[in-house]
Amino acid sequence: MMEQMLKYQEIDGKIKKIVYTLNHSDESVKGKKLGLFLKKAEENLKKMDRRSEELNSGVKKLKELYAQSIKDFDELEAGVEHAIDKNELNYISKKLADVSKNMAAIEKEISSVLREIDEIGKSYDDLKRKVPDARTQYKECRSKFEEKKKECEPEVTALKAELAQLEKEISDKNPKLIETYQKLRGQNIFPVLVPLVGGNKCSGCQMEVSIGATSKLDEKGFVICENCQRLIYKA
Ligand SMILES: [Zn+2]
Repeated sequence: MMEQMLKYQEIDGKIKKIVYTLNHSDESVKGKKLGLFLKKAEENLKKMDRRSEELNSGVKKLKELYAQSIKDFDELEAGVEHAIDKNELNYISKKLADVSKNMAAIEKEISSVLREIDEIGKSYDDLKRKVPDARTQYKECRSKFEEKKKECEPEVTALKAELAQLEKEISDKNPKLIETYQKLRGQNIFPVLVPLVGGNKCSGCQMEVSIGATSKLDEKGFVICENCQRLIYKA
């Protein structure tokens, strides 16, 4: 039984290795990076689009305000000629100064917004220029990856068939064993089956196994490590 289980683990390990190699290949790693870059680029371009829209409508409003200020200024200036006394003249002068100050502030704000629009435009163009090349490279990586994956497929299929056959054979005798194994594999633990070492230690985690567990090991051929949950067998 343990022999079959070990064979099962060996095949499982072979499949795991193939998948690992595939997922850590240059194509896969580079492809993932490029995929992420493209996704981020798309998000950023959208963000920049939205911000540009905001800024443009801001400029429009500021320009309207500015035009209104010019009108106010002209009206006030026209009033100077008709001022009836010094008091009114002073009042108008003060108003004119206020409007001028306000216009200067608006001008400053407009130029600051225009500067931001310009900066966004540059970043936008820069990013936009990088996207097509990244997309081409991404596609190349993907197709190379798919090619490699296809190359591995016959071997993986054969190994999986072997695994299924063994699983059936083991399950007929001890369904719990395969269940325990798969549960641990689901937690990304590998190897699941580890030999007892030094007479009483789990070689998976190096913890000592209790005397009760050791006798159970003699009786059943395997025992679950109380510390790391691996299946300990006697080598
Ligand atoms: Zn252990």
